[in-house]
Amino acid sequence: QHRSHRRYRAAPEQPTSVFRLALPDSCASGSATNARPPPGPARVNGHSSDARGRQSLKEDLQEFLDGEAPLHQLDDLTKVNPVTLETEFAYDISVSVLRCLQARYTADTFYTNAGCTLVALNPFKPVPQLYSPEQMREYHTAPQPQKLKPHIFMVGEQTYRNVKSLIEPVNQSIVVSGESGAGKTWTSRCLMKFYAVVATSPTSWESHKIAERIEQRILNSNPVMEAFGIILGNACTLKNNNSSRFGKFIQLQLNRAHQMTGAAVQTYLLEKTRVACQASSERNFHIFYQVCSRMPLHMTFGDTTRFLQPIYKGASVDERLQWHLPEGAAFSWLPNPERTLEEDCFEVTREAMLHLGIDTPTQTNIFKVLAGLLHLGNIQFAASDDEAQPCQLVDGAEEDPLLETLQIRTIRAGRQQQVFRKPCSQAECDTRRDCLAKLVYARLFDWLVSVINSSIYADADSWATFIGLLDVYGFESFPDNSLEQLCINYANEKLQQYFVAHYLRAQQEEYAVEGLEWSFVSYQDNQTCLDLIEGSPISICSLINEECRLNRPSSAAQLQTRIESALASNPCLRHNRLSREPSFVVAHYAGPVQYHTAGLDPVPPELTRLLQQSQDPLLKVLFPTDPKEKSQEEPSGQSRAPVLTVVSKFKASLEQLLQVLQSTTPHYIRCIKPNSQGQAQTFHQEEVLSQLEACGLVETIHISAAGFPIRVSHRNFVERYELLKRLRPHRPLSPHNPPDEGHSEHSLQAEEATLQPRLRDILDTLSAVIQPTVIPGD
Ligand code: ADP
Ligand code: MG
Repeated sequence: QHRSHRRYRAAPEQPTSVFRLALPDSCASGSATNARPPPGPARVNGHSSDARGRQSLKEDLQEFLDGEAPLHQLDDLTKVNPVTLETEFAYDISVSVLRCLQARYTADTFYTNAGCTLVALNPFKPVPQLYSPEQMREYHTAPQPQKLKPHIFMVGEQTYRNVKSLIEPVNQSIVVSGESGAGKTWTSRCLMKFYAVVATSPTSWESHKIAERIEQRILNSNPVMEAFGIILGNACTLKNNNSSRFGKFIQLQLNRAHQMTGAAVQTYLLEKTRVACQASSERNFHIFYQVCSRMPLHMTFGDTTRFLQPIYKGASVDERLQWHLPEGAAFSWLPNPERTLEEDCFEVTREAMLHLGIDTPTQTNIFKVLAGLLHLGNIQFAASDDEAQPCQLVDGAEEDPLLETLQIRTIRAGRQQQVFRKPCSQAECDTRRDCLAKLVYARLFDWLVSVINSSIYADADSWATFIGLLDVYGFESFPDNSLEQLCINYANEKLQQYFVAHYLRAQQEEYAVEGLEWSFVSYQDNQTCLDLIEGSPISICSLINEECRLNRPSSAAQLQTRIESALASNPCLRHNRLSREPSFVVAHYAGPVQYHTAGLDPVPPELTRLLQQSQDPLLKVLFPTDPKEKSQEEPSGQSRAPVLTVVSKFKASLEQLLQVLQSTTPHYIRCIKPNSQGQAQTFHQEEVLSQLEACGLVETIHISAAGFPIRVSHRNFVERYELLKRLRPHRPLSPHNPPDEGHSEHSLQAEEATLQPRLRDILDTLSAVIQPTVIPGD
């Protein structure tokens, strides 16, 4: 390690400390060789490589000081760091992190510690031994799980022990982030299973059964939420085949005996646009295909009962007639129906719904509403020649209150709140149709989540602490970004700020305990960016809100001008003059993103009013007319209740989430997708690098570099370096230290003379970098 420090001096713009953070913690606690094949059971000469490295340093120095060491043995010291890494990281921090991760990935090591974060690389292949009950037990029973190999169970166990801490039990949270397909949902599920096993009393069979039941119910909530919240697009190989299109915070509730007694789910920002609008290679939510598909099941050999009669998956003919989905019906909102996928398993969804207490009649109501949405998607408007006349249907004129609401905008204005009726253009009609579908689907999803919650929630007095699992979409930047990406990136910006604050605070506390004087060099604070997005009185959020409240077909160009003029002074706002579409650019911590201002149309209030008048039993539940509950999202002419737009609703739920997180000790798992094709054994450096940047890891390394990143306990330090104390500028030979045979006194002195400066250098480096952290215990 001393060598690298020397190099840093030559390149002062690169901080010395990065290496320690960039490499896994296990490196700091010994094996700095981790860029070589990762730590693990591999043993060198009967010692672990870690022990061997330490041992040889000690022996070499001892031998030298005893006058027995030949020169070349000290050369061996440098092998502690592989040369490739050393040379690289002296110039670029990110590259060294990348190298480290790649080397580990190649050796099938998918987890790496990076400071207080666990980096999880998606193996894109089954690694069952990694998640076996034996593994769970190993981490659960280890005296110091953090000394074991990096693993999600290590994070899980540390989190659990924190909750159990008798000194100060405090709620915990695990933030799992990463881009689509990186393995967030997988990780959360594994953690849930881990807690279902460890957060029980092994002696009490009864409680184990309860936990299993609860775990089952919690896990059951997954297929339901996912059927309603998932995209699929196997033509779209660049994306996750099975990506959850919502953020999710699961609170696992523990009683005083630290056993899991229940859970609560909070979801964020469902991608409801998908109901009415799918990219050419993508699909709608699974549930639509599940309801519609009727395919013979693959028969399994050995299961003879299945050969007796053909078994179909999907709904029966009768059921489909009942739900108004005759066989062979074509729906424009159901692209790529021929690609039936494993996830289209209607039976699993239905079974899970039953378990969660959604009975068959209620399910029928749900499927009818979904069928209604599919029919809605088939409505096509023709352009009207006369602006004063509403657009008619392509199929011909038809009169229906629903159609009329789509065709005619009602505006209330003036003191008397007079009602004006204005026919909508064809494009407006389309937008209103899509808006109606999204509105219904989003309410249905929220309602399902509330049903799930009532089924898995523990009584308030039966739980004392909780562990929160946050499965949140990572930073997004596409060629086309809209309000959705803005919300996602806003959430990431908030979480990043929280992460940095937590990280700095943790460092600060540690320095205080160690009695260190320090001051951080400035790091990139993303408050300016957050001010731009959510600040008051004027921000992007407030301007979008205002636009929505006006309930007019929003003008993209107008909004762009308003944002640009009102927020010109914020350095995080940039203008992209290359874009022809009205847009603005926000400089996020993870990079600049261009957002289009089109498509921010608010929910017209008359659509909600229409749904409130429905006689359908489910719609009546979803859209209650109770004035107190009314107008959650949309303004009502009569009521003075504050208008809750999508943006302000999201902002409020985000603030609530952060409040919960702030009341906990956070732990971080950053999921990384080594390639976008979902292939095993493939590591694309550029893709990984951009994810490292997007999850703030590079940024964190810079922050860490500004402080004292090396943590060596006093005991370890003494054990390792005490020999250096015996080093003196000149060491005369003594009777106890006679020259070896064959060595003249002269040659020995010459040898020492060449060695002396090198050892000085080691000492200098150590005192400059490590010594401060060991003063207190000395
Ligand atoms: P995300 O929720 O981040 O979008 P998922 O958790 O759905 O991503 O993971 C995408 C896919 O990657 C999963 O369907 C699974 O096949 C694979 N995967 C993720 N993590 C692992 C893992 N640890 N072991 C094996 N396969 C994994
Ligand atoms: Mg997911």
